Amino acid sequence: MKIDLDRLKDIVGEDNIRNNAADLYIYGSDASVHVATPWVVVQPKKISEVQDILRYANEELIPVIPRGAGSGMSGHTVPIDGGIILDMKRMNRILEIRPQDILCRVEAGVVDDDLNRALKPFGFFYPPAPASSRIATIGGEIANNASGIRSVKYGATRDSVLGMKVVMANGDLVNLGSNTRVEASGYQIERLIVGSEGTLAVIVEATLKIVPLPKYRCLGIASFNKLEEAGEAISDVISSGASPSMLELMDDVAITAVNKALNLGLPDVEAIVIFEADGMVKEAVDYEINRIKEICERHNGFGIKYSYDAKERARIYAGRKKLFAALSRYKEGLSCTSLADDMAVPNSRMADMAKKIHEVAKRNNVIMTAYGHCGSGVMHTKILMDPTKKEQWEDARRAVAEIYDYVREIGGTTSAEHGIAISKAPFWKKERKDSLEIMRAIKKALDPNNILNPHKLMDAPDDWVTATRLRYPVGGR
Ligand SMILES: Cc1cc2nc3c(=O)[nH]c(=O)nc-3n(C[C@H](O)[C@H](O)[C@H](O)COP(=O)(O)OP(=O)(O)OC[C@H]3O[C@@H](n4cnc5c(N)ncnc54)[C@H](O)[C@@H]3O)c2cc1C
Repeated sequence: MKIDLDRLKDIVGEDNIRNNAADLYIYGSDASVHVATPWVVVQPKKISEVQDILRYANEELIPVIPRGAGSGMSGHTVPIDGGIILDMKRMNRILEIRPQDILCRVEAGVVDDDLNRALKPFGFFYPPAPASSRIATIGGEIANNASGIRSVKYGATRDSVLGMKVVMANGDLVNLGSNTRVEASGYQIERLIVGSEGTLAVIVEATLKIVPLPKYRCLGIASFNKLEEAGEAISDVISSGASPSMLELMDDVAITAVNKALNLGLPDVEAIVIFEADGMVKEAVDYEINRIKEICERHNGFGIKYSYDAKERARIYAGRKKLFAALSRYKEGLSCTSLADDMAVPNSRMADMAKKIHEVAKRNNVIMTAYGHCGSGVMHTKILMDPTKKEQWEDARRAVAEIYDYVREIGGTTSAEHGIAISKAPFWKKERKDSLEIMRAIKKALDPNNILNPHKLMDAPDDWVTATRLRYPVGGR
């Protein structure tokens, strides 16, 4: 390990450096299957500290991996070559809330739910809402271009970012974007940083659009005996011009897991659709809900219930919110792995995609689930497998490749919202082959020494299984 701990201690103070074995293990993995060992974890509090850390790392050619909550699912913050984990969670101040300008300014380590709690008394909310909002930081959401349950109506993080302050690889502090709703010309570099997964700059502050809280929210659930019919209902709701503020799919694997883990008593069917409409006028919300209900019924949806009551809404939605953790309870001995984890497909192919996931799983001896923010085209899967068995990794490897080949074939994308990092990179590189060299040129221009989150996205290895250690005791490895 070639690192000057004294210099880092001078920058952030001894208490904000972590390098014991337990911390290095924890910070070496995220919500993905990968693990590697960083050299040290550094926790800055101020912009000037981030600048000094980057100046030092750039001089010494030390990798720096910006990290929020570490909830990335594809190995985003896994330090392939070691180096410094730059833990941004201490930079967690909400700097200003400006209702008149419909914006707020926050430090990058602010947690999404904390921001929303602070906005509520002002009558506003910040809409991207990934299912991980309880822990995910604004910096991590921007770097991943996260989206979530309400993106079907309010867009992804990209649509909410007005501007930001970033520290470049050489330590320079740069202001990007504006405080205004429109900004027309020149290269929109703040947009380039959105989705850059910590490879181009460290986000230290963000200026974000906020949205007035709707007066009414109504959430409902519909059951389907056929997964494809649920997929078709979702496609039809979207193409009908209805405006749901949430349109989520959960298949039978997801329903079983959630019922086992949380005892929620969700219906024992092939799929459920959870839908929501919101607005300032109750009649308008009623109208949207009735349209969604009619479309679900047209596709044989039944048992349709809905409620305006906040407690009842939370109860219906609880299973979806806690799904990722619940999936490991599906069957004794099977773990939920984030592989072939996320994709987006054209609206008309939602039902085909859901069906394909189950076909591929069956053929490859694994269990897979189909769920997601399907109203905005996002489909998630997880592979439930025995991760201690080497042959299951081979099964998973085949299943993942088949899933992403199909996604490409039907005109979808490997990158919906969970990012690319390591696990999804081989497939994303095929999809984006025409622009990889442009991306490499941009990376070289902004980070010539390749210190910022190296070996991710277009520079990630081609085989996710061997790219890092897997964080499971795999037989023979
Ligand atoms: C249970 C669960 C549910 C999830 N649901 C969703 C979902 O619904 N929608 C969704 O989009 N994602 C979801 N995710 C994935 C993930 O939580 C989000 O993408 C989230 O935005 C990541 O935030 P984070 O703070 O954990 O970032 P991290 O995982 O710490 O980092 C993510 C990436 O951002 C970079 N980064 C972090 N902070 C900065 C910074 N300040 N400057 C520059 N780069 C930075 C990192 O280097 C890394 O590449 C889920 C994850 C889990 C575990």
